[in-house]
Amino acid sequence: MFLGANSGRSVHFGESVRRAVLLLLLVLQASPCTGLALPKRLVLGLDGIAYRDMKSLQQGVVCTNIWGRPFRRQAFTSSEGYFPASRLVSTFPSTSDVAWTDIFGDRPLPGYQRTYFSAAANSQIVINGITTTMEHESQMNWQLQNNMFRTMGYVYPVHTYELEIHEALRNFWNDMDNNGGYYVYIRATDDAQHLDRDILDMLCGLDNQLQAMRDRYRKQAGRDLQILILSDHGHNHASSFKRVAVRSFLEKAGYQIMESIKNPKDVVLPTTGIEDWVEIHNAPAATITLVPLLTHLEGADLVTGRVPDQPDRFLVMNSRGERADIDWNPANHTYRYSTEKGDPLNYQPVIETLAREQLLDADGFATADAWMAATLTNHYPLALERIVRGLTRVTLNPATILISLNNGYVHCGFLMQKGADLSTFGSTHGALDNLNSDGMVLSNFTPTRDTSSKRVAGLFDDFSDVRNFRAEENGAELVTKTEQALTRIAREPFDSDYQVLSSNEVYLRVWSPQLAHLDLNAPVNVTIEKVNHFPNPQNHRLVSGPAAALGRHLTFNQPVAFSDPPAYERVYALPSDLVLKPLTEYRISGWIRGQSKSLNLFEFDFHTDGRGRPAAY
Ligand SMILES: [Zn+2]
Repeated sequence: MFLGANSGRSVHFGESVRRAVLLLLLVLQASPCTGLALPKRLVLGLDGIAYRDMKSLQQGVVCTNIWGRPFRRQAFTSSEGYFPASRLVSTFPSTSDVAWTDIFGDRPLPGYQRTYFSAAANSQIVINGITTTMEHESQMNWQLQNNMFRTMGYVYPVHTYELEIHEALRNFWNDMDNNGGYYVYIRATDDAQHLDRDILDMLCGLDNQLQAMRDRYRKQAGRDLQILILSDHGHNHASSFKRVAVRSFLEKAGYQIMESIKNPKDVVLPTTGIEDWVEIHNAPAATITLVPLLTHLEGADLVTGRVPDQPDRFLVMNSRGERADIDWNPANHTYRYSTEKGDPLNYQPVIETLAREQLLDADGFATADAWMAATLTNHYPLALERIVRGLTRVTLNPATILISLNNGYVHCGFLMQKGADLSTFGSTHGALDNLNSDGMVLSNFTPTRDTSSKRVAGLFDDFSDVRNFRAEENGAELVTKTEQALTRIAREPFDSDYQVLSSNEVYLRVWSPQLAHLDLNAPVNVTIEKVNHFPNPQNHRLVSGPAAALGRHLTFNQPVAFSDPPAYERVYALPSDLVLKPLTEYRISGWIRGQSKSLNLFEFDFHTDGRGRPAAY
């Protein structure tokens, strides 16, 4: 029996038709053989959903409606098949780009924020946060690409969120050639909380939509849809905010806020958004003086820094002047916490627990996992590992000092202070404490356990099926051996091939599906020209004559020979005579010759180092 879609009446078919229909259904469902299959898993990255919010929603929350009547909210319950949410402890700072990059094990980004300090270029570099797309975003099957809508998220976060969810779920059904995960990144959940919107209501709406999606999926695919929801950090929901006066504080102490570091008292303070942490880049020798000084900054909770000339020793102080050292053994992944005065992290009870359980070695070190187990529910979860990673490897240009602010204080730029009314501001994140740090992981197909941004991929097959965007899009980047070595999860051939590169050399990595049709030695033409921040249409394009001395034309046709490179990618050594103006911004663009016209492959900006060589990050 078959129910006609329009008539609603039963229609009877003969045996042969019935067999044909059955066969067709079988073909549609036979995923691995035909490739015609819906994704088996929906992986939903919800920016900034706090563990405590999801946990309370799972347990049920009593809220009050506009008429003052109490009502109960509950979502993602066990009766719907969800397991209890677990903590996903963020990076420090607990900010989006840094944490998502860590969650997916990607190569660290140049900076914590899209305005960052490049040590190689000795310059503060500004990347447009709206129009740029980071690796973790490109790896998604769906994320909001429209710049106008991304901007709208800061003004109308709930509408943008609804649009994001609607579009992501609609596009899921078009992905009929995916036997793995369908990865979605939703960013307006974070915007909504910054602007004090009702996040629990938004999550209840999502739960309803996912239930409807699961019903349809079960009917269409004949199996249950696996759902995995991840978030990158918490949100503090502080009731009011005060701006920390870190700039004037440093200036009063005789320091100069600069765009580069040339003198011992120069400091760089890259700032974007409104968050409760501060990054400071200073001459390394100044760290020892600056850390104790900054504990007097109103709003500072903890001040952490890397001890100069001791690459594996770090310093943590609190606003009461208490001080401890953190020692790191990178080879063994072990850490030691030694109090000098007081106990800034209040970790003495943790040390006692570790000692009792015989988890400390003779020198007082314990493994990262032992520290994690002992501090997961602490006020400062996984603090040693997160402070050390924050000051060394969660970004390619780590700060010399990271400040974690008290909830109720924020750091923001001057323009942001003028443009944003802090009284309408609802919540933030970035600090080291659990409110800011505890994101979450929630699944309906496997029980989860408390984990961290560094470890969560290990629980889900390293997210090995994220989208390989380099095979599908055009792009390029400058790479070096040392930065590539910081990629935690190797997914593409280059993630291990990079080892044959020379140290201290910068390479151009180009990818495009177009390259797959071309000979390995087909030329890639490149133009390098100085970025003119005050464009003069007369010399905007590269011209011959004196202006051309500022730029170069290059042809690359001899890629680095790897054993089994992907057809869509080439990696070229930059010529040794490519010396440009030192500490200057340039734009590089590249194209290949197509059948009738040239095809643009990429265009991006870079800075040169003190010798005039391109700086990769
Ligand atoms: Zn985030």
